[in-house]
Amino acid sequence: MSLVSLPVATLGLPRMGPRRELKFALESYWAGKSNEDQLLEAAAGLRAANWARQKSLGATIIPSNDFSLYDQVLDTSVMVGAVPDTYDWTAGPVSLKTYFAMARGEQGKCHDGRSGHAQQGAGAPAQEMTKWFDTNYHYMVPEFHKDQTFRLSSRKPIDEYQEAKSLGYHTRPVLVGPVTFLKLGKSADPAFNPLSLLDRLLPVYTDILRELSTLGAEWVQLDEPCLVQDLDHASRDALRRTYARLSKDIPALKIMLTTYFGAIGDNLETVLALPVAGLHVDLVCGSDQLNAILMRAPKELVLSLGVVDGRNVWRSNLSALLERLAPAVAKLGSDRVQIAPSCSLLHVPIDLELETDLDSDVKSWLAFSVQKIKELVTLGRALGGDYAGVHDALAVSEAAAVARETSPKIHNADVARRMAAMDDGMRRRNNAFTKRAEVQRARFALPVFPTTTIGSFPQTAEVRSARAAHTNGTLSDAKYEQFLKEETARAVRWQEDIGLDVLVHGEFERNDMVQYFGEQISGFAFTKHGWVQSYGSRYVRPPILFGDVSRPRPMTLDWWRYAQSLTERPMKAMLTGPVTILNWSFVRNDIPRSEACRQIALAIRDEVLDLEKAGATMIQIDEAALREGLPLRKSQWKTYLDWAVDSFRICSSCVGDATQIHTHMCYSEFNDIVDAIAAMDADVISIETSRSKMELLDAFTSYKYPNQIGPGVYDIHSPRVPETAEMKGLITLARQRLSDPQLWINPDCGLKTRRWEEVRPALVNMVAAARELRALS
Ligand code: GLN
Ligand code: ZN
Repeated sequence: MSLVSLPVATLGLPRMGPRRELKFALESYWAGKSNEDQLLEAAAGLRAANWARQKSLGATIIPSNDFSLYDQVLDTSVMVGAVPDTYDWTAGPVSLKTYFAMARGEQGKCHDGRSGHAQQGAGAPAQEMTKWFDTNYHYMVPEFHKDQTFRLSSRKPIDEYQEAKSLGYHTRPVLVGPVTFLKLGKSADPAFNPLSLLDRLLPVYTDILRELSTLGAEWVQLDEPCLVQDLDHASRDALRRTYARLSKDIPALKIMLTTYFGAIGDNLETVLALPVAGLHVDLVCGSDQLNAILMRAPKELVLSLGVVDGRNVWRSNLSALLERLAPAVAKLGSDRVQIAPSCSLLHVPIDLELETDLDSDVKSWLAFSVQKIKELVTLGRALGGDYAGVHDALAVSEAAAVARETSPKIHNADVARRMAAMDDGMRRRNNAFTKRAEVQRARFALPVFPTTTIGSFPQTAEVRSARAAHTNGTLSDAKYEQFLKEETARAVRWQEDIGLDVLVHGEFERNDMVQYFGEQISGFAFTKHGWVQSYGSRYVRPPILFGDVSRPRPMTLDWWRYAQSLTERPMKAMLTGPVTILNWSFVRNDIPRSEACRQIALAIRDEVLDLEKAGATMIQIDEAALREGLPLRKSQWKTYLDWAVDSFRICSSCVGDATQIHTHMCYSEFNDIVDAIAAMDADVISIETSRSKMELLDAFTSYKYPNQIGPGVYDIHSPRVPETAEMKGLITLARQRLSDPQLWINPDCGLKTRRWEEVRPALVNMVAAARELRALS
C-alpha cells in the first residue's frame, strides 16, 4: 500500500485571532479610533494567519470565506441583497456602515449580553439575533418580505477566494447553503414562507458559484445544517430544486454538501439523491449514521467524515477512531474519503498551548482547534497507510485517553454513591402545590399582585472596574468586600423605598451567572484564553466540566445572609440551576449529559438546603437556558425535558412546604413545553413575555398552569422606560388567562445590562401598576 495521506479539511476556523485581535480591531473601529482601512487590514491579517496556520499544521482542504467581521449569516444576507428598507442601501455594494447598522443598530444601540436581544430605540435597530441551531453562537436573523428580490451585493466570497489565491492557497470557499439561509429567515408576516423565495434567490448563488469556478475553485462547501432537522415536504423539495439547479448551472464545480450538529436521519434518502459531488456528515453528534450512509451512498459520492468533535474541547482517542474508520475507508477507497471535524471549528477555542495555568492533567485531555487539526492530520496519515509515521502521536493520544478514564480527578466515589442512592422521594416536595401555597400565603402575607425583580441590578462601570481591580490585585479583598456590601445595601434600601414586596440582593458580586458557580464547584476548570464567539465581537469563555461535581462549601450563603440582615422583607436567595450551568459549559463526554446535569443538581441541592437552614424563605433557581437546550429533533425533546425537569426537581424538592421555590426563564416561546415547565413544580416562575405582548399566555387558554407565575411586564432589553398604563395593560391581558392569586408582577429578566437611570423609573412605574390594580381588585 502506498503511503498517501487522506485529504484533511477543517470546514472553518475561529475568526477572532489567538489574542482576540478581531475584537479589538472592531471595537476600535466602532469607537471611531481607527478607520475602515485599518479594520480591513487587520481582518486580512487574521485571514492570512489562519490560512498559514492550517497549512503548516498539515490540513489540505483549506476554506475561504469562513471568515466574517460579524456573522456568516449576516454576510449572506448582505451578499444577496436581503437588506431591509430600514437600512441605508438601495443598490450596489453594501457599505460597511450599513453592514454594522444591521449587526448592531445605528450608533450607540448595541446588543445586551448573553440572551441576545437587540435594544430598540430611535433610528434603525439591529436585526434580530438568535441561536445558531443548538450552539451558543448567535446569528443575525435574515428578514424577508413577499416582494423580496435578490441581487449580488457583496463579492466577499470571491474577494476572499482571490485573496487566498494570491497568497498561494487554493481554497474551498464556504457558503451558507440557500435552503438553510432561507429557513433561518423570518418575515413580519407570519403566514409568509421564506422558502417561496427560492427561485429568486438561486440565480444569485449561481452567479457567485460560477465566478468562483471560473476563477479556479474546484470545490465549494455549502453548509446545510437544516438537513439534521425535521424537514417538511416543502423543504425537501427546495433542496432538490436547489441542487439540481446549481449542478446544472455550474457543472464543473464540485459541491461538498455539508451537514452537522446531528444525524441526517430520515432526510437521508433526499440527501443521497441530490446531484452533489460530496457529502459531509457529522459522526460525533450523529455517531451511528455511518453504516447507513456507507450502505446507501452512490458510488461516486465523496464522503467527508466529521470524526473529531468540532464543538467540544476533548482530545480524541485516535486509535479508537482509527479502528472505527479503517473499514469505512477500505470500503469507500481512499480517493472517496476526506477527514474533517464534525462541524466548523468556529465553536472551539483556538489554541490550547496558550493555557499555561491549566491543571496539567486536565490540559492533557483537551484539544482546541489547533490541536484538533493536528489530530485530523494524524488520522489522515494513518488511514492513508502511514502508521509508522504517526505511531508516536497515536501512542500519546491513547495514553491520554487511558489516563483520563482512570484519573482520580474525574471520579469521586462520594458522588457516585449519592447518584446511586437517589430515589423518588428526593424529587418530590412533601406536599402538592395547593397545600404549600396555603402555608406560604400564611407565612408571607403578601398583597395580591406581589412585586419583585429577577435578581441582578445594573452592573455599572464602577462595579465592573472594582471587580477588575480586585482580580488584578490592585483592590484588596477587604476593600472589595466593603464596596460590594455598600452596593448591596444601597440596592436593598432603594427597593424598600419604592415599595417592592420581595427583594433581591442585586448580584453585584457575580461576574457571570454560570462562572460564579462553576468557580466554586469542583469538577470545573477555567481557561485564560479559551474564548469562543457568542456573537459579533462578544466572546465567552465557557467553563469546562471535566469531572464529578461536588460543592465543597456554601457558595452564596454569606451574601444572602448579609442582604437579608438589612431588611424585614423576604430576600430571595439566588442560584443558577443545573440545566443552565450545563448548557453554558463545555461538558464532559465520558458520561451522558443527563448524568452530569444530575450531579450538578445535587451540588445545587446542597446549597438550597444550607440556605433554608440559614433562614432563607424564598429561593430562586434560575433556568435561563432550559428552553434553548432543546434538541434539534422533536423526537428527542421528551428525553431532554425529562432529565432537565428531573434535575430541577432534584435540586429544589428538598425544602419544606413553607419555603418558596422560584425559578426564572428567558425567552418567551414556551407554548410547546408548558407542561414540562409545570412539571418543574416551582412555586413561582418568572418568565419573559413583554415583547411578545403576552403571547405566552395563549398556552394557558388550553392548558391550566397550576402554580404561581410572573409574566414579565416590561422589556429589560430596551432602554425605554415603560409607562404604568402600559404595564397595567399587560397585567390585564394576563388576568384574562390566570387567576389573580397566581400572578406576580416583575420585569422580563435581570437588570444587569441596564443603567440605574432606566431601572429606577421603570420599577417605580411597575410598583404603581401593581398598586393601582390592587386598589381595584
Ligand atoms: N438572576 C439572573 C439575573 O437577574 C437571571 C439572569 C437571566 O435570566 N439571564 O441576572
Ligand atoms: Zn432571563
